[in-house]
Amino acid sequence: MKKKEFKAESKKLMDLMINSIYTNKEIFLRELLSNASDAIDKLHYKSLTDESIKVDSDSFVINISVDKDNRTLTISDNGCGMNKDELENNLGTIAKSGTLAFKEENDKKEDIDVIGQFGVGFYSAFMVSDNIKVISKAYNEDKAYVWESSGIDGYTISECDKDNFGTDIILKIKEDTEDVDYCEFLDDYKIKSLIKKYSNYITYPIKMEVAHEHLKEGSKDEYETVSEVETLNDMIPLWKRDKSEISEDDYNTFYSDKFFDYEKPMKVIHTKGEGLVSYNSLIYIPSHAPYDYYTKNYEKGLQLYVNGILIMEKCADLLPDYFSFVKGVVDSPDLSLNISREILQQDKNLKVIAKNIETKIIKELESMLKDDREKYEDFYKNFGMQLKFGCYDSFGVNKDKLKDLLMFTSSKGKKLVTLKEYIDNMVEGQDKIYYASGESIDKIDMLPQVEQVKDKGFEILYLNDYIDEFVLQVLNKYEDKEFANVSCDNIDLDTEEEKEALKKKNDDSKDMLSLMKEAIGDVKEVRFTNRLKNHPVCLISDGDISIEMEKVINAMPNDEKVNASKVLEINANHKIVDKLNTLYKDNKDELRNYSKILYAQARLIEGLSIENPTELANLICNELS
Ligand code: ADP
Repeated sequence: MKKKEFKAESKKLMDLMINSIYTNKEIFLRELLSNASDAIDKLHYKSLTDESIKVDSDSFVINISVDKDNRTLTISDNGCGMNKDELENNLGTIAKSGTLAFKEENDKKEDIDVIGQFGVGFYSAFMVSDNIKVISKAYNEDKAYVWESSGIDGYTISECDKDNFGTDIILKIKEDTEDVDYCEFLDDYKIKSLIKKYSNYITYPIKMEVAHEHLKEGSKDEYETVSEVETLNDMIPLWKRDKSEISEDDYNTFYSDKFFDYEKPMKVIHTKGEGLVSYNSLIYIPSHAPYDYYTKNYEKGLQLYVNGILIMEKCADLLPDYFSFVKGVVDSPDLSLNISREILQQDKNLKVIAKNIETKIIKELESMLKDDREKYEDFYKNFGMQLKFGCYDSFGVNKDKLKDLLMFTSSKGKKLVTLKEYIDNMVEGQDKIYYASGESIDKIDMLPQVEQVKDKGFEILYLNDYIDEFVLQVLNKYEDKEFANVSCDNIDLDTEEEKEALKKKNDDSKDMLSLMKEAIGDVKEVRFTNRLKNHPVCLISDGDISIEMEKVINAMPNDEKVNASKVLEINANHKIVDKLNTLYKDNKDELRNYSKILYAQARLIEGLSIENPTELANLICNELS
């Protein structure tokens, strides 16, 4: 029979398995049992939704049998089975290329034990076996087939006999080596303990014939061996068990098995909903963004079970977009099994569950913020952006739910603060929430406009995510306090006398200032200000669009371009003012050049580009020579 080659990716993964020196070879059993359980799930689901399929759900079972003499371990299920094409496609090609990609990507960085923590599926069986036979008969088909492979050089598929539908996986366990006793995988006791450890929650019985030594009847010292079929798993899924019976380890193992994360979750939320709609949910907040989170392949959603039967791998309607990083399982008896994706979206009960889950996650995050600040800040560094998007999205419909979870860096100590904390720290006479935006915290801290506000003793929120200012705009106010951009026109920190004096100064120099404005061309106004302490100039915006927003909007890949209305402010107390006055009297052309240079400086400080750098360079050079 002609041997077929594995697909390239499968080869790589198999090579990884066969040559792996991983200590946790034992996870192969978990993988095969979970495949068996999935296969039964599929048939179970079909039987409940398609009347032509008649199987008794009490008959579903996974059997394990051991033949020590031949060194074989067999795992059989009466699930959906596979036809010839399915054997070819499912076992000749690796489905979980994500695992491989992840492995390759991270291999160089550090030795993350992906195989142990990730699901690697069927191929993991090659860690313990040197030959594998998969005998399978798909439900409702006449013919059965056997797929066989002894490793990397390929596999064969041929017709064979099999009475019932389902799949038998026969592993020829490797010979023992100096380092590894492969024979332990043929030992009843070991197999029992592995099932308790990894597969206890599988909802179908896993049965095995186990030998027991019994005293012979009527005898005091003579023993006989009696074999009994035992069910080795508890069969109650983790989410249905009582919280008090579940250890942190149970939760974490379930998480890494199901959601293929090699790091422990940051938070586990296990709830039972009763009332109008009952459900059990087990929700996890990951401790880092899923590895494919920022790719277009990422799909949000929770696994949806109806009465213990998986009906949807990723039910997107159970999570709002801003919680798309959340993982978990929902099981409810109050949903219809026959439900299609379209109907599901309309389902009232599903909406109730989704709403409850959302509220619960928000509550848990609020208590994390209150009780475990460090953890919350970690969370926020990973997923804060999602919350900001949540606030901003759909014109802010969700902003009230999320606003208290937001954090921004404060000018005081450069630490993250919430809006509530900011308000609580406001000093006397302060009635606004001040913020400044820029590319980075350091750059914002150096903005000339920031200085005066800080000098007055006011705290400033430093906004360095491009979305931040849009979020504040959607929030509009927080507890009646308006947000004020320190680089905007509406900042009013001067006393009445100071205002008077400044007004006079501006009025007196009206003609000079309008000549400067005309020389620059691009600004709405040129004027003196008190807001600068040491710096000569700054650029501020006057209107709804701030300079930072102009940068963000114009960087977007569409044709919408905006122009913030800009005002060049000159420090009224800087020595440059004398120079400008002199030039106005003696040399107006030179004043025009000065105006252009000062404007260019202000643009650079704001992080804006210079329209004509050559002209600027020439102007400066003329002044220098
Ligand atoms: P995964 O289970 O993550 O898809 P595997 O490599 O473990 O990856 O399995 C590949 C595919 O082979 C499965 O998706 C499934 O379609 C099929 N398969 C594996 N084991 C069985 C089984 N016992 N019964 C039916 N189909 C199976």
